[in-house]
Amino acid sequence: MKTAKPLKQLKLSVPAQDTPISSFLTASGTFHDGDLLLNQKGLRLISEENDSLPSETKEIDLQFSLEDLETIKVIGKGSGGVVQLVRHKWVGTLFALKVIQMNIQEDIRKQIVQELKINQASQCPHVVVCYHSFYHNGAISLVLEYMDRGSLVDVIGQLKTILEPYLAVVCKQVLQGLVYLHHERHVIHRDIKPSNLLVNHKGEVKITDFGVSAMLASSMGQRDTFVGTYNYMAPERISGSTYDYKSDIWSLGMVILECAIGRFPYIQSEDQQARPSFYELLEAIVSSPPPSAPADQFSPEFCSFVSACIQKDPRDRSSALDLLSHPFIKKFEDKDIDLGILVGSLEPPVNFPR
Ligand code: ATP
Ligand code: MG
Repeated sequence: MKTAKPLKQLKLSVPAQDTPISSFLTASGTFHDGDLLLNQKGLRLISEENDSLPSETKEIDLQFSLEDLETIKVIGKGSGGVVQLVRHKWVGTLFALKVIQMNIQEDIRKQIVQELKINQASQCPHVVVCYHSFYHNGAISLVLEYMDRGSLVDVIGQLKTILEPYLAVVCKQVLQGLVYLHHERHVIHRDIKPSNLLVNHKGEVKITDFGVSAMLASSMGQRDTFVGTYNYMAPERISGSTYDYKSDIWSLGMVILECAIGRFPYIQSEDQQARPSFYELLEAIVSSPPPSAPADQFSPEFCSFVSACIQKDPRDRSSALDLLSHPFIKKFEDKDIDLGILVGSLEPPVNFPR
């Protein structure tokens, strides 16, 4: 016989006469006390028992559903789908909602959602948190931490180049994210590129789309079909050899060099006619000597850092952990470089369509 589930003891206190109303009202105009939420949307019971979320989002955990999110605007578009800025109607928290359209079989879909559930348990301040994932109407929706200064694409779009002290600060944070992914989670990101390195007004840099390229590939029927750009891909991946964590290090080196010199390292000029074709580019990455930072324009520490990342043979590349103590990172560590001020001085990311 089924035993009845004990009823949860709800917490609700009667406010004392002199309690200011502000202590019950959240920023979104929601009245919140104990387990109850009340606003113009109605009455909601909530749970405060989940410890895996930051305090401001804890209260929305269990009842998190797509209906609770209202769209503010579209903030980006990638090969897999659209990213929107959304607000949680109940608590006012902003999120980025990434909706990926995919026509896939039930079993692959279940596997993907399962993988996402594992991935979203990120406990690193330099990896974008995925709070929830839903499968709804043939699309997978990811509720992500909102990074209000966009990606490195937006930053270099305005600044053209990033100076070494700021690059060191960016690099350190990306490396901390990579140390977490490589050394703690034992996963390869596979798609480190400027649009997957996001920035916020506090000057925090975080890696996103961890697991998404693998997910898109599996939805295309083949686990290792890559969807996205090949520009930052390590030679061993392009040539179909086995690859490991070091392929992410190559990609990081390419991103950092691009941010320093203001153009993609394999492209010599802005002239469209002079640009290599897709196949010429792949051929160059696999067969030509690797690009390097010009020694007459950059510090020896920076040149050495880039060279420690962009080595054709993955065994010659440094690990994320080693790079964290590279002289280029150490040089600016105690200099109080405020990336928040730099990105705060830029125009907010341009809205889609761009
Ligand atoms: P691709 O799909 O080819 O990998 P992409 O990385 O640009 O390219 P998306 O991951 O869909 O595509 O992201 C599109 C854009 O949306 C990003 O470039 C970024 O500007 C923005 N974006 C994505 N996630 C967030 C987020 N969590 N917070 C703020 N902006 C975001
Ligand atoms: Mg992306």
